[in-house]
Amino acid sequence: MTTSRDETTRVLIEVAEAQSFVHQWLTRLSPVEAPLADALGCVASESVDAREAVPGFDNSAMDGYAVRSSDTTDGAVRLSVPEAVLAGDVASAALAPGEAMRIMTGAPLPVGADAVCMIEEATVDADGAHVVVPRPMGRGENVRRAGDDVVVGDRLVDAGVVIGAGLVGVLAGQGLALVSVYARPRVGVLSTGHELATDAGALRPGQIRDSNRPMLLALLRRSGFEPVDLGTVEDDAREIEGRFREGAATCDAVVSTGGVSVGDADHVKHVLTALCGERSRTMRVAVRPGKPFAFGVTRDEGVPLFGLAGNPVSTMVGYELFVRPALRRRAGFTDVERPRVTAVLDVPLERQKDGKLQIVFATAGVHHDGRVHVTSVARAGSHLLNAVASANACVPVPDGPGFAAGEVVPVMVLDADALFANGRADTDTAAPT
Ligand code: AMP
Ligand code: MG
Repeated sequence: MTTSRDETTRVLIEVAEAQSFVHQWLTRLSPVEAPLADALGCVASESVDAREAVPGFDNSAMDGYAVRSSDTTDGAVRLSVPEAVLAGDVASAALAPGEAMRIMTGAPLPVGADAVCMIEEATVDADGAHVVVPRPMGRGENVRRAGDDVVVGDRLVDAGVVIGAGLVGVLAGQGLALVSVYARPRVGVLSTGHELATDAGALRPGQIRDSNRPMLLALLRRSGFEPVDLGTVEDDAREIEGRFREGAATCDAVVSTGGVSVGDADHVKHVLTALCGERSRTMRVAVRPGKPFAFGVTRDEGVPLFGLAGNPVSTMVGYELFVRPALRRRAGFTDVERPRVTAVLDVPLERQKDGKLQIVFATAGVHHDGRVHVTSVARAGSHLLNAVASANACVPVPDGPGFAAGEVVPVMVLDADALFANGRADTDTAAPT
């Protein structure tokens, strides 16, 4: 039998090396024809060209009166109103000289008309049969031309772009119900540990509640993947293997927590070896928290299996450094990392030298000086989940003494919306008066 490399008792591996071990095995998921609503946030696998012009016909941009601009050159002209045309209707006849047609926004411009006078500008007789247009109308005024937005043959979607809500609207505007995208990864989540309570009842001595699985399911959903709950499992190699097999058969990736360190009940790494052979590796990554990490790609299905450390903050770090980028790659994204910005540290970030990259969860915000400031950092401790729960950024602190307050450092943004919320006046002492 082939065995994977088990490096849990050996040297530390740099984060980048662990990441490249993961990435070398990853394949992009096959493209699928997805209903538009399901494609939101997915990566287009093919380009799409327009098959219909938008607008499809010249139409009114305003509620008003369609006129011949040449009728209005003298200003304050009185025109007869033979007909009204609503959006969705078509005028029964062309507009003759001396006529104005009452027209609603989106209604097709009658033949002969070339401008629309807004209702607010016009003065209508009590019976509605005549209207005074108060000023000369410019040709094309308040008219939306066919093809203004989209011309047949326009490139609407390039392969590789992310389908946003606007594009969903544009594609729907072409009468398309489906779009070719890389499949959204289905990701199984599994918690391992004899100590995990499986219901909400009172805890037995030594038991704890399972934070990791609900958190990972939430992180995956937040990242646009499809989470699949594979439940909890005891520290039992056979049970763990069965659950991983189930996940590999039904999902595009499986993430487990616990059981990857050097403890007596740490079986996940052996299971990964059994399922993946040489295509797996158990590592001590030079990162804090999150040092123990196991990864493999199953022999049978080629499904990536991630074994993250059980401490909840380690789980989070493992998700950010390894799982999320890998799954984004599977989903067809080319930019797989969290965005990085440079930020001013409003607080010092001291650390001890230990040969590892330290990942510090932080609260960051855009302040009135236009710069991102890190205003607080979470207490360090791989078990201190509550301390990091409100963080919207991570500061990677390289090995060494750390950073002093005032230094400008790169920061990984976990929640861009919160970056702006955190800059509001109540948290910003530099607000101008
Ligand atoms: P392990 O990685 O199995 O050695 O676990 C490391 C620590 O994380 C231990 O204190 C575990 O009790 C804790 N832990 C493991 N799994 C979970 C979980 N699902 N939720 C919360 N804590 C956990
Ligand atoms: Mg354990």
